[in-house]
Amino acid sequence: MSSIAVSERALRVPRAGIRVIFDAAQKYEGVIHLEIGQPDLPTPPEICRAAEQAIEAGETRYTPNAGSLKLRQAISSMMARRRGLDISTGRIVVTTGGMGALASAVQAMIDTGDEALIPDPGWPNYHMQITCAGGVSVPYPLRPENGFQPAVEDIEARLTPRTRLLFVNSPSNPIGVVYRQEKVDALLELARRRNLMILSDEVYNDICFTGSCPSFLRQDTESFVMAVYSFSKTYSMTGWRVGYLVAPEPVAAQVTKLQEVFYACTSSVSQAAAEAALRMPDGYLDEMNGVYHRRRNALVRILTENGIGHFAPEGAFYCLLQVGQANEDSTQLALEILDRTQVAVAPGETFGEFSRGMVRVSFAVEDGQLEEGISKLAKYLASRPAQ
Ligand code: PLP
Repeated sequence: MSSIAVSERALRVPRAGIRVIFDAAQKYEGVIHLEIGQPDLPTPPEICRAAEQAIEAGETRYTPNAGSLKLRQAISSMMARRRGLDISTGRIVVTTGGMGALASAVQAMIDTGDEALIPDPGWPNYHMQITCAGGVSVPYPLRPENGFQPAVEDIEARLTPRTRLLFVNSPSNPIGVVYRQEKVDALLELARRRNLMILSDEVYNDICFTGSCPSFLRQDTESFVMAVYSFSKTYSMTGWRVGYLVAPEPVAAQVTKLQEVFYACTSSVSQAAAEAALRMPDGYLDEMNGVYHRRRNALVRILTENGIGHFAPEGAFYCLLQVGQANEDSTQLALEILDRTQVAVAPGETFGEFSRGMVRVSFAVEDGQLEEGISKLAKYLASRPAQ
């Protein structure tokens, strides 16, 4: 046994439950992977070609910490064209995926013992990132009786003098809920009233089945909203690792400095690819959205036919399924499902207390695989003895 002591901080960070199942699935043949949020659609060829051209042109060096000026200008123009927002390049930091944006934003805002409010159910990385920064995550419930929309009272009741950040995520992982405009307005009003910084994770904002997905980012909210975006899901670019943060200038400056500490910059070749992604015709987004919308409808149909409890997703590409007892250990359940059916699903408890006894499936998989996976799962659950 080694006697090397690793940091308490690293030891406190839990492992992501999704990865536990992903790793366990490696020992089975022919697994249908519904556990991971990874688009099956290929990166569009125009984007790949732009990366090849960048390599041929020798664009293989460090870029500025905040990202290449060309990419930040392209993001700023896109924000103006699609959303009518005037966002200066000084407020944009290109990061290593949305994860890099979130992690650096947390490091820039949280001191030891500071609190950050996170949604339950919610994406586990928020808790991991806050813990890693020495902060304390405080879950606030998204209640089924409210259609999983956040309630101002639930958030306000958890504010303390140490609260530094409010995480919001719409469309959400793992429920696929899209916050209503009036909720967004109410939370912005709360932030203004209580001098609270909102960290809005909008990486799924282009995958939306309700017609429009309200953003927390507005022209008049400059001082108390940070928003995180990513090329990963919208353009099927998970492996390219490009995302960005839009923040008030003083915060963007700190995050830019932290880029030097952690990564210097994200890959120059990936940044050139991201620039090409922003040149894709608008029809691309409609087409991509159409594919996920079709799969979402197929999934909801099969779940309904088989009597499996779920919330019909309004955006993103996830669905939480009520498959076990309320307090059942869903990691064991997911391992059992994997073993009996070779279908990999994400354990609910990794998303918080609410979703113990549930599992999450992703419908970012090819139509045939999705139908086969859910049918196998439904058949197994129907034959499973009561626990
Ligand atoms: N935010 C949410 C809610 C996610 O589900 C993910 C990825 O699964 C991310 C952010 C970050 O993705 P990436 O770092 O690939 O941009």
